[in-house]
Amino acid sequence: MDTNWDCIVVGAGAAGLSAALVLGRARQRTLVVDAGEQSNRPAHGIGGLLGQDGRPAEDFYAAGRAELATYPSVEFRPGEITGGERRDGGFMLELRDGVVETTRRVLLATGMDYRRPDLPGIEERWGRSVFHCPFCHGWEVRDRQLGVLDRGAPGVRRALLLRIWSEDVTLFTDGPAELEPDDAERLRAVGVEIEERPVAGLSGTGDSLTAVRFADGGERSCGGLLVPVTLHQRSPLAERLGAALASKLPLVADAVEVDEGFHASVPGLSAAGDASGQMQSVANAIAAGSTAAAMLVHGLATEESEWALAGT
Ligand SMILES: Cc1cc2nc3c(=O)[nH]c(=O)nc-3n(C[C@H](O)[C@H](O)[C@H](O)COP(=O)(O)OP(=O)(O)OC[C@H]3O[C@@H](n4cnc5c(N)ncnc54)[C@H](O)[C@@H]3O)c2cc1C
Repeated sequence: MDTNWDCIVVGAGAAGLSAALVLGRARQRTLVVDAGEQSNRPAHGIGGLLGQDGRPAEDFYAAGRAELATYPSVEFRPGEITGGERRDGGFMLELRDGVVETTRRVLLATGMDYRRPDLPGIEERWGRSVFHCPFCHGWEVRDRQLGVLDRGAPGVRRALLLRIWSEDVTLFTDGPAELEPDDAERLRAVGVEIEERPVAGLSGTGDSLTAVRFADGGERSCGGLLVPVTLHQRSPLAERLGAALASKLPLVADAVEVDEGFHASVPGLSAAGDASGQMQSVANAIAAGSTAAAMLVHGLATEESEWALAGT
């Protein structure tokens, strides 16, 4: 199949940009298509990324795109891939604007939808004073009155973890705590209080959280709340292209299954970053995108030698 591209990278978050950089430097004809909805955009900045700690996400992605612009074999296109299929050993992908592109390889770097509890007051504080990952946001809320919204063993684990960032941690279980006796004792030993009243919402000003409100009309002060999330494919593309998905619950509902080289179950298709269910961080997404791209370049070079041998 004659193709326009060696690789189409779907998504230009940390994984996709990192992959495109490696592909561009390896002189592969690379199209990057991005819908511009990287999952950490609501956050104050990127926590815990070496050399870029605290940098606003928007700035970071703009810098990545600017680096790509210096490589003539890479084209960045804002847009969305809405469908596609495997065809003649390559792929045909359709963009929302109706354009069709053909490629030898596809790298899905489409990220995940972080589904959070449906609670009044979460959305406006998401990624700031309400968060899913203390490694990303714990530093910014350190030493405040903090809370964990969860119950059972996951609630215990997360409350014990959050104690690292504050001595004042409450476990809000929104109903019966469902704790093993040992766990209740362990929480008490480190000073974590348990609040079982049903939660009705969050109060605060702007993106700052000040209290958790209860259904009985009461409230408890809280300046930072760790909430549970489940991650779902943001794009149906993996499924449409026939990739096997696997649940890695409790956190990830449907990660693209990949091998150690980030190859998916469909030949020619790779997936990296959150979409492939690795530990969710910008650093990991960069590393995965980089490795996935290097593996793709190896495969493309091998394929070219096979074509040369076959005289095609
Ligand atoms: C609120 C929040 C805050 C976070 N804070 C931090 C932090 O401080 N530090 C940290 O290390 N990690 C943080 N994380 C985790 C981190 O953001 C992710 O692990 C990382 O961004 C994953 O990168 P990715 O490239 O896989 O996906 P993303 O960054 O989500 O990028 C995927 C891109 O693909 C695009 N896309 C999807 N489908 C299509 C399609 N069909 N066609 C075209 N484009 C498409 C999306 O629009 C998006 O631009 C945070 C996550 C969240 C939700």
